Amino acid sequence: AKWVYRFGDGKAEGGAGDSIRLGGKGANLAEMASLGLPVPPGLTIVCDACTHYFENARMLPDGLKAEVLDGIAAMEAITGRRFGAGIQPLLLSVRSGARASMPGMMDTVLNLGLNDHTVQALAEDSGDARFAWDSYRRFIQMYADVVMGLDHEIFEEILEDEKARLGHEYDTELCAADWQHIVSLYKQLISEELETGFPQDPHEQLWKAIAAVFASWMNPRAQTFRMLHRIPEEWGTAVNVQAMVFGNLGSTSATGVAFTRNPSTGEKALYGEFLVNAQGEDVVAGIRTPQSITEEGRLASGSDKPSMEKLMPQAFAEFRTNCDRLEAHYCDMQDVEFTIERGKLWMLQTRNAKRTTRAAMKVAVDMVEEGVITESQAVCRIDPPSLDQLLHPTIDPRVERHVIGSGLPASPGAATGEIVFTAEEAVEADKEGRKVILVRIETSPEDIHGMNAAEAILTTRGGMTSHAAVVARGMGIPCVVGAGSMRVDLRNEVLLAANGVSLRRGEVITIDGSSGQVLKGSVPMTQPALSGDFGKLMAWADKTRRMTVRTNADTPQDARAARSFGAEGIGLCRTEHMFFEGDRIHIMREMILAETEKARRAALSKLLPMQRSDFTELFEIMHGLPVTIRLLDPPLHEFLPKTEAEIDDVARAMGMPPAFLARRIDALHEFNPMLGHRGCRLAISYPEIAEMQARAIFEAAVEAGKTTGEPVELEILVPLVSLRKELDYVKGVIDAVAKDVARETGVPIAYLAGTMIELPRAALRAHVIAETAEFFSFGTNDLTQTTFGMSRDDAAAFIPTYQRKGIIEHDPFISLDFDGVGELIQLAAERGRKTRADLKLGICGEHGGDPASIRFCENADLDYVSCSPFRVPIARLAAAQAAI
Ligand code: PEP
Ligand code: MG
Repeated sequence: AKWVYRFGDGKAEGGAGDSIRLGGKGANLAEMASLGLPVPPGLTIVCDACTHYFENARMLPDGLKAEVLDGIAAMEAITGRRFGAGIQPLLLSVRSGARASMPGMMDTVLNLGLNDHTVQALAEDSGDARFAWDSYRRFIQMYADVVMGLDHEIFEEILEDEKARLGHEYDTELCAADWQHIVSLYKQLISEELETGFPQDPHEQLWKAIAAVFASWMNPRAQTFRMLHRIPEEWGTAVNVQAMVFGNLGSTSATGVAFTRNPSTGEKALYGEFLVNAQGEDVVAGIRTPQSITEEGRLASGSDKPSMEKLMPQAFAEFRTNCDRLEAHYCDMQDVEFTIERGKLWMLQTRNAKRTTRAAMKVAVDMVEEGVITESQAVCRIDPPSLDQLLHPTIDPRVERHVIGSGLPASPGAATGEIVFTAEEAVEADKEGRKVILVRIETSPEDIHGMNAAEAILTTRGGMTSHAAVVARGMGIPCVVGAGSMRVDLRNEVLLAANGVSLRRGEVITIDGSSGQVLKGSVPMTQPALSGDFGKLMAWADKTRRMTVRTNADTPQDARAARSFGAEGIGLCRTEHMFFEGDRIHIMREMILAETEKARRAALSKLLPMQRSDFTELFEIMHGLPVTIRLLDPPLHEFLPKTEAEIDDVARAMGMPPAFLARRIDALHEFNPMLGHRGCRLAISYPEIAEMQARAIFEAAVEAGKTTGEPVELEILVPLVSLRKELDYVKGVIDAVAKDVARETGVPIAYLAGTMIELPRAALRAHVIAETAEFFSFGTNDLTQTTFGMSRDDAAAFIPTYQRKGIIEHDPFISLDFDGVGELIQLAAERGRKTRADLKLGICGEHGGDPASIRFCENADLDYVSCSPFRVPIARLAAAQAAI
């Protein structure tokens, strides 16, 4: 195996394409060296060596040391210095560098190679004893922290004590002798703490530092970061060993970072900061305020500290040229680190720059206009979920966050409001114009009013497909679910956070639905505004994609929002929502509690005009586009009151004894409602419900056809089918009503009758079901639930543990499980199309808005994806990327 890749002096063994092997940093250092940019010579130890290290009892692989020593010999030849000896000692930096950027998560050691002898040589060679001793003490401090496990803080304390003793305020006031004394105090501390003392042998320092950087791949910080960003543990990190250059060698030295364009606005202008006479860590530590590198930036910030452009014009000119070259070479905005050592510029790192979504849009569109990238490349430059940043208010990134709890980021955006614990309170507050956050253990369809009235929703239970999550996403309001570290104490009306904070009703909190955080108090927000760049980019995306993007919408409000975001139809209208509107719940209850079919029909006939007007409005809003209406899905008991007080209320209103109502509720009780009397099973038990809904749909279609002047493109969807005969039966009911309505109105309505594929049996028997079904809509929420046998409302209790223990990589309710659920989808698509070549296929589970799942749908050749309104732009972009 080849463990080490060298770079320097205009040559390199690797390049930008080698980031899997060399990590991002190593690959780009090699690339810069090959481009002839001034990169301090060095070597990269491959990521595989890290994996090897962990698989072999934390031992460095055989042969590695020899390769590193060869590499160091090459560095010595280039620099004319010697590692660990001589009058011109070579010092090294040892840095991590994984395939994906993991800023600050792993460890770094600088100034390696210093000991009691080389520090003297460095002092002579640089002519700056103060610099040499300061470098030595920095090295000891870092090495002790990273390699020896001694806390950085205890060294800081010694330094602070010394400064106090000498009556100094700033580090810069200490002289060489002071630093030398501090070095002796540091070494003494290490001897006391560890008995081993600080290692004087530079080779021992090097091997231990390399091992420590590998080890830092597994530190808890890095592990958490990987989990959040879905970075696999197997990747490991590379280690870059590089000749040190110094930005802290006096007033002609400096260090800094720059972006080739503005990372927050995307504006095409070099943007960066630097510090004179400093090492890289000083910039990060924020002890001194960095200065702008350009005059333009200095003027914009109103600073009177001179820019690098003014102060070091030659180095600056070279730097600007290098940045232009790098941007042109990578065809993307770069984020660059540099050091100037006594007037000589060194390039230390380049990578594609992180940027806000707004900046990403502008840079992508500008680069197309500059002829640097193609439209397709521009479309691929935007991370689809990041579009959220443009559609919702977000927390001002500059403010400090007082986090009191966190859960799953169920619906993006941020909102502030007073805590309320019931839907009724939310509605009341809304009427009074107060902004509230609805805090619940979990929500149910009865809470919809309150959810709609609230600014945001927080639940302590439930997963990404729980009721609260689905509804909030549909409404486009921020939501955090499953905040397990928080507890709702309804009796005392308090919200208890893990760290002992307790908040009463009426106290203000902020929900960040994009990160899952719950914050105390109110926080400044930034408001969304869609730019012209957004329109251009989305137009390119729309040109590129094959699949259609529809929306899951149950209300006119959802439908309008979705249409404005570019939805090309409704892929799922969950009609159950409509039974909770206004006073309808009472009639609904009447219907459910009816003892005879006749009484049930009487109640249904009261619901009919209401449903009809809902559908008419939806059809009108969506005119010209397909609309899929699903028949009632949830079990009936969901519509009945739950607590004793509620039962009493309803019984009184309905003029029946509470005991009777309670008996009926008991009779409807189910042990597993998710697997119970729901979906098409309801329509089979009570065909009159399906009849009423079908009639409302067809009559609405006739009406909307008249007002809009074009026929409705209608699709009727039957939920939870597993047997063809179930679908046959329900389709029979629908077809009969269609005939009746056509006869009565004289207007025949064309429609497709289809089914949800959301049970494994339906997927397996797709070829048979397609004999009746004219389209399939994959209900991946239920299909995931039933394929895994994991309740979608309870999975949040154990999925995070599964992720932490590496049993699953991601939550299958968020991003499709390709291997299992995905195979069922593929198989159903193939089998269904075998029976019916023109079978229309779509997905309407929550996965329809998830980019990875959308890619899967593209590959499975589905016709459309359907997602909540605010995810429509994300899906348009993701579908385009999947098609490229
Ligand atoms: C599904 O199961 O994926 C689906 C879309 O239906 P619901 O979430 O309403 O069960
Ligand atoms: Mg379902």
